Amino acid sequence: MPTQSDDLPSRIKETIRHFWGFDTLRPLQQEAIEASLASRDSLVVMPTGGGKSLCYQVPPAVAERTDVVISPLISLMKDQVDGLIARGYPAAALHSNLSPAERRDIERGMREHEYRLIFAAPERALSSWFLNSMQAMNVQSIAIDEAHCISQWGHDFRPEYRQLAMLRDRFTKANFHAFTATATPRVQQDIVDQLRLRNPARLIGRFDRPNLIYRILPKVGKIEQIVEALRRHEKEAAIIYCISRRDTEELANVLRANGFNAAHYHGKMDANSRRKTQEAFSNEQLDVVVATVAFGMGIDRSNVRCVIHESMPKTIEHYQQETGRAGRDGLEAECVMLYSAGDAMRWESLIEKSAENAENPREVIEASRELIDAVSSLCRRPVCRHKSLSEYFGQTYDKPNCGACDVCLEDVEGYDDATVAAQKILSCVARVQQRFGIGHVVDVLLGANTENIRRNNHQELSTYGLMKDTPREQLQSMVYQLVDQGLLVRTPGDRPTLQLNDQSWAVMKGQIDVKLLRPKQKKASRSKAGEQSWEGVDKELFEELRKWRKGVADERRVPPYVIMEDSTLMELASVRPTTLDVLRAVRGIGDKRMTDFGAAITRLIDAWCERHHISTNERGETSVVIPVSKRPSEARQRAFDLFAKQQPLEHVAAKISRAPSTTAQYLIEWIHQAQPKAVDPWVDPETYKQVLAAMSEDGRLKPVFEKLGGAVPYETIRIVIAHQRAHAGLPPE
Ligand code: ADP
Ligand code: ZN
Repeated sequence: MPTQSDDLPSRIKETIRHFWGFDTLRPLQQEAIEASLASRDSLVVMPTGGGKSLCYQVPPAVAERTDVVISPLISLMKDQVDGLIARGYPAAALHSNLSPAERRDIERGMREHEYRLIFAAPERALSSWFLNSMQAMNVQSIAIDEAHCISQWGHDFRPEYRQLAMLRDRFTKANFHAFTATATPRVQQDIVDQLRLRNPARLIGRFDRPNLIYRILPKVGKIEQIVEALRRHEKEAAIIYCISRRDTEELANVLRANGFNAAHYHGKMDANSRRKTQEAFSNEQLDVVVATVAFGMGIDRSNVRCVIHESMPKTIEHYQQETGRAGRDGLEAECVMLYSAGDAMRWESLIEKSAENAENPREVIEASRELIDAVSSLCRRPVCRHKSLSEYFGQTYDKPNCGACDVCLEDVEGYDDATVAAQKILSCVARVQQRFGIGHVVDVLLGANTENIRRNNHQELSTYGLMKDTPREQLQSMVYQLVDQGLLVRTPGDRPTLQLNDQSWAVMKGQIDVKLLRPKQKKASRSKAGEQSWEGVDKELFEELRKWRKGVADERRVPPYVIMEDSTLMELASVRPTTLDVLRAVRGIGDKRMTDFGAAITRLIDAWCERHHISTNERGETSVVIPVSKRPSEARQRAFDLFAKQQPLEHVAAKISRAPSTTAQYLIEWIHQAQPKAVDPWVDPETYKQVLAAMSEDGRLKPVFEKLGGAVPYETIRIVIAHQRAHAGLPPE
């Protein structure tokens, strides 16, 4: 139990140290906790990962009372409760999946005032049994999670949420706290009105998620783009969102064929398969889930490193929510969206269909179309993504360059001859008399031999085969981009055709310069995003700790992130504590974790560091003197010296106690710096020649690797490329 003291801030501080091992609160958390302790209503809007849960978890622990949290998502509740119990914090969740025995146990606990927090789904919270129990427990504070569900202006309206307002009548003295991650100013006001919050403290956090890298790219080669993005996150958790169920299955198959550990997920799967997939993902047995938006509600895996939208999402709110599942642990994560004009049309026709049953279809369509237009414009405008998203949610964003989006990182580049390409496309539309759709126009330009072309004699057109050297997907993307930019019209309806407008003619007359984008061929660079970096973290030890965590998690039958967050493991792999004193100072290690895992962790780290000759206790009073070769920058310098002496890679790796991959990276840096005449000690001359011969102009690795039949490792190819670039005076890749 936290020690008692009259000074509120220090009691809060002691509570978060005791249960969570945190030493500071984030700014809005402090205010939210104080509002609850002062019995003042509040509206708390914080982006996903911002730390909302602490805001309702801390007050009852400080005040030693029982609070209630209403949440619509059973699995989220379960995870939270498991996590709290693992920290020694008494909590329970009431939901429909409880066995009679579990339920009886919780009822007993409630009678005996055992819990600090009780989670309940809305229907359950409104049952007369629960209302009476709340009265008996003298509940004074009620938190409503996912509060945007109460507003029909939001993107996830749930009628049952409307009834929560009646809690206000029943518990007139209690204070209410609404929490949400995505709410435009209009939705915020609606929440306050619907719940009749009284003079609430409005705590609106920054919507921006600085640890997310946004890449919103024209779809020019879907599979290739997705595979490339996933390769940046090998063995890490990724979610790919598709519009249709069929897409999820097909894409998952393709990814498995490409060697990814992937599965699909959609709402029409039977409950058992859905649960299995969710669990496999939570338990880190599955890396990639290809899903419809049905996936994610209730997924609390905090170390999702990549979220991909294979098509444009329906609204910016959806986008914010779905990308919000990436990097909840505050560490860097990447969000890639592939869009094309076709996606917007697909949404519109889906909405028209579903609106047929609505009471006021015209209004529904109108409102949806506004939201779709907003996403389309987000995609098309070459404005910093962090800025665009912040502004959509009513906030300013001042950084001139975020360093973490495709626009600021300059990931995309234009085609050199875009105007000429556009002219060719537009004149083909004119030649087919504006009577055909995209597929046919592309076929004609590529010089395809199709039934449709033969029937219309289009092989006779002057534009037939005019762009036969352009890959189909690129050509399609160019057409969509012309539509996006309003230089070409695609008619709405079931059988859309391409038509010309005044702008199209101006392009053909050479009066308008056209810009068309294509993703850069080079590997997308890393950003500077993320609260915590890998600097100083021993990655292999991190993996070792992950294995240990998985073992404990399996034993306790909870997901690994419930045992410990990735950020804490990183800190452990960086500080490398071997004594309890040093361990105690690690962020994320609270009292319960000390008792439960302290011995195991310090023993594991001690043995591991001993075996790998790596220094320990990098922080804290007992910090030992670190041998020169062990600090990252010093290890690099040491490696450089050894490379200058022509030492082989494995040799250097062993001497500096770094993984071969890290050492190879140092070698590449050294090659750029020292520009050695030859790299013979690391690549034999024969192999060098082979790589050189296989190298293509765009500098991509994979084609070279494949051309050589996989016989030459990527590392070796990289070294050759580095050597070539260094001598050509080019910067490192
Ligand atoms: P939300 O519910 O807003 O999505 P969470 O409450 O799940 O966010 O918190 C996100 C992550 O941030 C969790 O891993 C949590 O442990 C961590 N966190 C929250 N508050 C703090 C804090 N004051 N100091 C350090 N880490 C924190
Ligand atoms: Zn930016």
